[in-house]
Amino acid sequence: MPELVFTRRFSMGHRLIHGASESCALPHGHNELVTVRLNATTPARLDGLGNMAISFQQAKGTWHRFVDEKLDHALQLAQDDPLLDWFLVHEPARARRIVVTPGDPTTELMACLLMAKINAFLKHEGGVLHCTELSLQETPTNTVCFSGAPEDFIPQTDFSRTPWWQRPI
Ligand SMILES: [Zn+2]
Repeated sequence: MPELVFTRRFSMGHRLIHGASESCALPHGHNELVTVRLNATTPARLDGLGNMAISFQQAKGTWHRFVDEKLDHALQLAQDDPLLDWFLVHEPARARRIVVTPGDPTTELMACLLMAKINAFLKHEGGVLHCTELSLQETPTNTVCFSGAPEDFIPQTDFSRTPWWQRPI
């Protein structure tokens, strides 16, 4: 069936404190590309008129706004990272812009979280499309590809409210 594939670029900062490697433990950044592959939830023949399940522009709108406004130039930190506490105490307004993750914000985890997020958006917008594959290119030589059900791979959390990747806003 025809699939829609979009790519968006963003810059991010993070650090990995739980032992991935010492070179990842100080805050640093990457210019990343996130690519999503969208399929019709109920496959159907093109209608001979508009010939699309949904327009590219409509399908991309919410997702690209999220990437541009929430991911681009944001800092990603593990929920137990002491830097997060520092921001909460000293720069609480900026702390709200930190992307908090259950454990280290690795590319593997972010691919799962972003897949959950785009599917929360798509479901909220009527569920005409859903994302079947997401790839996150951290560097030109390192990419993580995810397909499947992200909730089966995302760590269990004790976040008190619905975590950001499950919210369609
Ligand atoms: Zn890194």
